[in-house]
Amino acid sequence: MGKNLTTRNEDYSKWYNELVIKADLAENSGVRGCMVIKPYGYAIWEKMQAELDRMFKETGHQNAYFPLFIPKSYFSKEASHVDGFAKECAVVTHYRLKNDENGNGIVVDPDAKLEEELIVRPTSETIIWDTYRKWVQSYRDLPLLINQWANVVRWEMRTRLFLRTAEFLWQEGHTAHATEKEAVEEAEQMMHVYADFVENHMAVPVVKGTKTESERFAGALETYCIEALMQDGKALQAGTSHFLGQNFAKAFDVKFATKEGKQEYVWATSWGVSTRLMGALIMTHSDDNGLVLPPKLAPDQVVIVPIYRNDEQLEAISEVAKALQKELRTKGIRVKYDARDTHKPGWKFNEYELKGVPVRIAIGPKDLEKGTVELARRDTLEKQFVAREDVVGVVEGLMTEIQENLYTKAIAHRAEHTTKVDSYDAFKQVLEDKGGFISAHWDGTTATEEQIKNETKATIRCIPLDDDNEAGSCMVTGKPSKRRVLFAKAY
Ligand code: AMP
Repeated sequence: MGKNLTTRNEDYSKWYNELVIKADLAENSGVRGCMVIKPYGYAIWEKMQAELDRMFKETGHQNAYFPLFIPKSYFSKEASHVDGFAKECAVVTHYRLKNDENGNGIVVDPDAKLEEELIVRPTSETIIWDTYRKWVQSYRDLPLLINQWANVVRWEMRTRLFLRTAEFLWQEGHTAHATEKEAVEEAEQMMHVYADFVENHMAVPVVKGTKTESERFAGALETYCIEALMQDGKALQAGTSHFLGQNFAKAFDVKFATKEGKQEYVWATSWGVSTRLMGALIMTHSDDNGLVLPPKLAPDQVVIVPIYRNDEQLEAISEVAKALQKELRTKGIRVKYDARDTHKPGWKFNEYELKGVPVRIAIGPKDLEKGTVELARRDTLEKQFVAREDVVGVVEGLMTEIQENLYTKAIAHRAEHTTKVDSYDAFKQVLEDKGGFISAHWDGTTATEEQIKNETKATIRCIPLDDDNEAGSCMVTGKPSKRRVLFAKAY
């Protein structure tokens, strides 16, 4: 049965959009650039949130909540920050509507103009550091390790479901420290936490690194990031963690008394991942039949579908299916039994394939006779008959195996699409032929980085943290280079 999906080879971008909609993850809304996240998509996001939240708490962070609106005057206090975000800010200017006297319906009441405009937060550093001034007096108040789950608005011009939306959901961590060393360690730690989550739960391999000066977060001294590679050879920034130095402490006058009684400015970090991770998950694993989910994030890990001709058969199958569901649940496996009589088994098979459920179990009258079930894996599309008494063990094993298989496949894809080049010609050729990550020498200047970006659309995704750091010469200018950096076209 066809899914009527455009294939990845035909048009990757179209395939992605269709998949997001047909798998019931999200859809466009009446508001430009803003999406509706549907229950199935939201269930996956909730799984991500739950695990990330656990990891944040395990590393000592607490959740809090700050206002959606930021007074313009706060926003303007850190110069480079406002420069970076000014172009994509939504601004609230009035607080009331009224009926127009000339019969034009509801209009903004000109008498209800706000004294000071409010910015809808694109990120919360400014409102949070204004608050931290009241929370921090002494070294005893530090470190402050806070996270907030929220929505933010960035007026993006070119939007894509999940990958880049004007409003998106995210978490933003904001920490305050007594020393530079502690703040840098925190920023690095959170990059590692993100990498751990993305690799071990999403099964998406990432490169850890730092951003170049021109790609840094507005107001940061260093931006750490994790970069992933999608199936079409384009890179995706999956998460960022910033070392903010004392920039925000100085802008908002946040000082603390040291043990020795001196007054010093506080050191800061901030870090975030967003609903963009959904895009990374979809683009990394899915195929021409639809979504493929790693078991750790699948809302339903197993679905059981009965195949029957009459009520009597259904009743007999249901008895076995429900017992199996119960056994699997006691092993902590999320199982759905879909006995709806409103849809045919073929329709259901199609639907669960499209929605990426890792394991499908079908039980028919023949299976009852033989004491077997038919088991199908979503990742490889392989089917096998398994004896009823072996099902729980096999499914438990498959949860680990599918999770690992997805990661291994993604690692292999990335290895195939990572190329070392030593000349600008070779660089352009690889970009054209297969894209992917390109490891090359660069002279460290913003001018050369800009030139490459303008001529090829490829950007420096990161200066990798590990990898080989042999010196060489820049592929464009021939000037000395301390180490190779990773280039790619990116989302
Ligand atoms: P930033 O605050 O710019 O460092 O971004 C924090 C996180 O949000 C990063 O992981 C970005 O990839 C992600 N992000 C930035 N802009 C958007 C957007 N328009 N839609 C979805 N995610 C975004």
